[in-house]
Amino acid sequence: MPTITEDQIMNALEPVMDPDRQASIVKLGMVSGLVIRDGNVGFAIEVDPARGQALEPVRKAAEDAVLQLPGVTSVTAVLTAHREGTPGQPAGSAAGAAPEGPPRQAAEADKPGVPGIGSIIAIASGKGGVGKSTTAANLALAMAADGMRVGVMDADVYGPSMPRMLGISGRPSQTQGRKIVPMENYGVKAMSMGFLVEEDTPMIWRGPMVMGALEQLLHEVVWGELDVLVVDMPPGTGDAQLTMAQRVPLAGAVIVSTPQDIALLDAKKGLNMFRKVDVPVLGIIENMSYFTCPHCGERSDIFSHGGARREAERLGMEFLGEIPLDMAIRETSDSGQPITVSQPDSPHAKAYRAIGRRIAEKLAAESRTAPKIVIQ
Ligand code: ADP
Repeated sequence: MPTITEDQIMNALEPVMDPDRQASIVKLGMVSGLVIRDGNVGFAIEVDPARGQALEPVRKAAEDAVLQLPGVTSVTAVLTAHREGTPGQPAGSAAGAAPEGPPRQAAEADKPGVPGIGSIIAIASGKGGVGKSTTAANLALAMAADGMRVGVMDADVYGPSMPRMLGISGRPSQTQGRKIVPMENYGVKAMSMGFLVEEDTPMIWRGPMVMGALEQLLHEVVWGELDVLVVDMPPGTGDAQLTMAQRVPLAGAVIVSTPQDIALLDAKKGLNMFRKVDVPVLGIIENMSYFTCPHCGERSDIFSHGGARREAERLGMEFLGEIPLDMAIRETSDSGQPITVSQPDSPHAKAYRAIGRRIAEKLAAESRTAPKIVIQ
């Protein structure tokens, strides 16, 4: 297969014009974030937020132009609503020096629903490394094991780990209409930037670019009929997360936290973020809650176990459950066989199943009571 170079892609994009400004999107410095992985190409087209959706034909034309190149098997172009590129700047640097203000809203209606998807839930954490993705994968599989139709959207663009955790490799295909067909394993559908970009490829994402990419993962993927779409959020509570919580029609959020994380109040930031945008917090899961010795099975509390339950009660959040720090959880999720499917009778799998059921119950209750009035 011929190797595709950045120059070839830029040359192919050269004839694509911004209709309003009658100049090439390359010359205008609108193309950024170019990623080439085998025959799969991804990039962002930076547009003025006010022109947002009007430039959809330009996005399509850019995708088509690159798709013509020999060796290119798939192209994902995303529109990012950001300040206009400065003419003449090379790709990727158009907004490099731009001041980073709060995330801007694209012009379209707030929170468009996703047809066919019952509920979208976010799995969030105050910071990285607390086991958010491991929990998201296991909860998704737990709900699937209970007969729900489940999808996983890996929104953790900074470190997409769902392909590895769900044991999925390869590239998603596209339909005739250029929609992306989600990948699938263990009965759950999954979509991730990780199918396009190597997991350890360092990528710099600015808030608006993240949003553009995520909206496409949500709206340009043929999810089909799902009872629940589990979104593995980017870690933290910054602008990108806030915008996402605002823009994706979330039925609720689950906060994953370690005992130390609770102590440092990171989990509380997550709670406050969702409250700010009126997304119900379904509850908190304490991960790496205690330690079970792999030899004798004895349990010990390495951190101040139980802090999450107390903190949840204090903050008026439901405590959904606790998952121990256990080698088996790490090994299974890191090797693409999460414990919920590989050891379904283990106590850990049962813990995930119980939490998954509780979340499903809460979602069902919420859909019966919506719309709700919030009195503060
Ligand atoms: P995050 O998404 O919060 O960054 P990950 O889910 O990627 O965190 O988890 C970070 C690491 O910790 C991974 O290697 C994962 O396998 C491991 N891990 C997560 N939860 C547990 C647990 N309960 N017991 C043991 N290892 C865990």
